Amino acid sequence: MPKIWIDAGHGGAQPGAVALGHAEKDLTLQIAALLGVKLTRCGFSVAQTRTTDIDVDLDTRGPKANDWGADYFVSVHLNAGGGHGAETWCSITGGKSKALAQCIQAELVGLGYVDRGVKTRKGDDGRDYLAVIRQTNMPAVLAEVGFIDSTEDMARFDAAKAAQAIARGICKHTGTAYKQAATAPTFTSPPIAGLTLDTSSKDMVAGEKYTVLAKCKDKPAVTTTGRDVIAVSEPRLDPKGRGWLIDVQGLPLEPVVRHGHITVSAAGQTVQCNFNVT
Ligand SMILES: [Zn+2]
Repeated sequence: MPKIWIDAGHGGAQPGAVALGHAEKDLTLQIAALLGVKLTRCGFSVAQTRTTDIDVDLDTRGPKANDWGADYFVSVHLNAGGGHGAETWCSITGGKSKALAQCIQAELVGLGYVDRGVKTRKGDDGRDYLAVIRQTNMPAVLAEVGFIDSTEDMARFDAAKAAQAIARGICKHTGTAYKQAATAPTFTSPPIAGLTLDTSSKDMVAGEKYTVLAKCKDKPAVTTTGRDVIAVSEPRLDPKGRGWLIDVQGLPLEPVVRHGHITVSAAGQTVQCNFNVT
């Protein structure tokens, strides 16, 4: 079986692109880790540039894969700079690098990303511009799994699906059967401890909605004062798994009803009576 070198882009003090609350180095590591699991399950030998958040010199990545004797080199990145969609880079020499890139690109596009195509770039010296493609002895590709600064692409981002797409592309190119896990693996967020919430004062106009992220594991209890000023939703699960979302909407200024209430407690019971003053 072919030996695959997986290269998670950036790392450590080199975050890569940072946007919309994410650093590229974290997302590339998530994809790379899952890609390693999937390729191993399919029978490939796998080695990684990094499996933790560490600095790796760009110019050492290719040589390490050369020393290991990799048959293919797959670098994982996210794009940035104001576009959207997926693209896969290959060597200007074409061959297996281009063929593999086409297989991976087709799978990424299958996830719904806009197809930016398979690309090459020649440096001033007439060789491949991208270091990891230039410095590798084996067919190498670099996949850009969407734009980290695109809300559209990041709404679609799923490290497990991206890893599966790249793994499927590698399987297709090498004529290997893709093996699903017995139970579909998902990337699980670290467990949330305690409660974290941005408690700074928010200024808003009537009608405006603000969503508060409460970072906690269990559904939080929310009580409200100023119900004539703000409307508050039930907490709902954050689709990104960071905790719970609470929508707060500024109510219109009219009609103005001032109110006060009394809270009466006795015999283990608490009751409240409101007084509206117009
Ligand atoms: Zn990058």
